[in-house]
Amino acid sequence: MKHPAKDEQQQVEELVMKVGEIIHRVVDGEQTSIIVIPDPGRDQWICDTVRPLEFISHVEAIDTSYVLSARHSQKERTVVSITKDLHIGAREFVVMAGPCTVESKEQTYHIAQSVKKAGALVLRGGAFKPRTSPFTFQGLGQRGLEILAQTGQKLGLPIICEMTCQSQLPLFDKHADIIQVGMRNALNYPLLKTCGKLESKKPILLKGGIGATIDEFLAAADYILCEGNPNVILCLRGTIGFSQESRSAINVADIPALRRRTHLPIVVDPSHAAGRWGLVPAISAAALVAGADGLLVEVHHNPLTALVDGPQALLPERFERLMFRLAAIAPAVGRTLAPVEITRPDDAHPLHDLCLEDPGPAPGEKRPIIDDEERRALLSFLSTPPEPKKEQKNQRDK
Ligand code: PEP
Ligand code: MN
Repeated sequence: MKHPAKDEQQQVEELVMKVGEIIHRVVDGEQTSIIVIPDPGRDQWICDTVRPLEFISHVEAIDTSYVLSARHSQKERTVVSITKDLHIGAREFVVMAGPCTVESKEQTYHIAQSVKKAGALVLRGGAFKPRTSPFTFQGLGQRGLEILAQTGQKLGLPIICEMTCQSQLPLFDKHADIIQVGMRNALNYPLLKTCGKLESKKPILLKGGIGATIDEFLAAADYILCEGNPNVILCLRGTIGFSQESRSAINVADIPALRRRTHLPIVVDPSHAAGRWGLVPAISAAALVAGADGLLVEVHHNPLTALVDGPQALLPERFERLMFRLAAIAPAVGRTLAPVEITRPDDAHPLHDLCLEDPGPAPGEKRPIIDDEERRALLSFLSTPPEPKKEQKNQRDK
């Protein structure tokens, strides 16, 4: 509608409300757009009735399964504020990093310190792990989240952690700065709605489902937005693919494609996409160049002993090298990186070698992850005597 006078807008709204529901209004300078979900079969009626009105400039039937996350719902790009100084979706390329999983206070602190030093602005770590097998390590639960929060506070880093069910919401609302909804829950609509209803409007990082299309991804984001939480960050982490080389298939073309379709910020998780650390630098650089707003990267100081996802974790030194390279690339694509002093590692040329490191064994390949650094880590691990196990009383003995 062009220059709608109050009663003209009211006239249109009353008309459409007879046969549909108004779900969104967008005021853009001199224009106001009204987005309507018509009652079944009434879309043509709405178009035909509204179009001839003199102050209507455009009527369009939108043929997508997503609405609120779409570009036409908001002209300017959404910038999600994590703290008063940290924003995702603006000029700064925000790198979030840390272990896949919180294993102990010491492990978390050690890794957090190293990623902070290298320029990460958010600390990641899992506490409630959605594992494929119920017999594998499931995370430290509440204690894990508390360790992550305490570590973040100590170092002045906001934290991101994955929430796996609605009942955890009060805990996450209290401790997390960003709530992650992971790949396995990416289409869990009740969970998404719960995130949308959060009074604090805490930022939600939503990963794409393993087989989800872009339409389904954006429709999932709508589930959060339509409940009133506008702070949604999309995270591409790869989908099912045919390559034997990586854990999932990440399509770099999805980044500009998404940017054309949505106003929401987009980050990339190169670690779960790759499944092996050696591919992480190339995917990260590609994400930066293709227009992503940040990364979510897994780092571990001793990948061989990591309880989850060791093969895809970067050693802290490799993470530092990656940050150095990203810092060199960022200005060429109009981005800034955290203003920390990263000294140039001896062997790091910013613009080559990204893909030349041995990427380690492919998923399912029997070759051990081994190079000098890992061999040293392994030997030091093997030469450290294990801590005596605490007596675990058998439930049945009680
Ligand atoms: C994670 O970030 O640790 C995780 C489990 O990721 P995804 O949901 O992408 O598998
Ligand atoms: Mn992981």
